[in-house]
Amino acid sequence: MFGDDVTIDATVLGDGDPDLAVVGGVHGDEPSGLRAIRHVLDTEPDLERPVKFVVANPPAAVAHRRYLDADMNRVFPGDPDAGERERRLAAQLGEAVDGSLALSMHATHSSAEPLAFVSGDHPAAQAAAARLPLEHVVNHDPAVDGAFTSCERVVSVEVGRQLTEDATQNATKLVRAFLRLTDALPDDPKTGSPAFYTMRDAVEKPAGEDDVGLLVDNFERVDAGTAYAATPDEEYVADDPFYPVLMSETGYEDIFGYRGERVADSLAAAREAWGTPPEGG
Ligand SMILES: [Zn+2]
Repeated sequence: MFGDDVTIDATVLGDGDPDLAVVGGVHGDEPSGLRAIRHVLDTEPDLERPVKFVVANPPAAVAHRRYLDADMNRVFPGDPDAGERERRLAAQLGEAVDGSLALSMHATHSSAEPLAFVSGDHPAAQAAAARLPLEHVVNHDPAVDGAFTSCERVVSVEVGRQLTEDATQNATKLVRAFLRLTDALPDDPKTGSPAFYTMRDAVEKPAGEDDVGLLVDNFERVDAGTAYAATPDEEYVADDPFYPVLMSETGYEDIFGYRGERVADSLAAAREAWGTPPEGG
């Protein structure tokens, strides 16, 4: 159905050369971001700054598949000559948003509430994430390689539960908030007062066990000695305290999700904890 010739799909709205970008569909089975982009484009907003709207992986979106050859959010910066199509798309996307501040939208199995992911290395992306209307900003550097956020100015948001109307509404709200906080739309955004976390490592799920129950909620502290999951035969108990991030019973094949550490209640303190270089680069 799809040949080797894959390209991202970009639309520029507003006059001039954009240094803002809104990206959806890095994962083809998360249509909420693409629907949000379509909603915003359909309203033909009068933008005060030009913005590039990007469908990141059109063939995967048409196929309703997370990816065709490789998880695109693990292969940045990509490679224009690679065999795997997502590596080529990642290279195109990186080039398309180079120098821009970008919002990239995902959906999840784990949480209806939006949250943001950033790299600990990129202060401009962190500053934007901290002003979005959401309650949790997570530096996922220690737990993932090759994410889009490794590109310089990219905020990645989880907009809500995959394939729900709420996720599309949240995504649309987040796009508008992003355009307001960057002065592409008038008015100040309604901002959250997020807590800041570092995502440490994966929480393994028992292999081949279908009947597992998760006993904790995302971003609610799990104390040492507390059972966080159970099967009919066994309880899984935390050795050390942690904050669950992206944890769900069914979201991943072999992990429940991730262990997080809550590092700060302010961006300045979070940057200190993360060793973020000063802004301006
Ligand atoms: Zn995704």
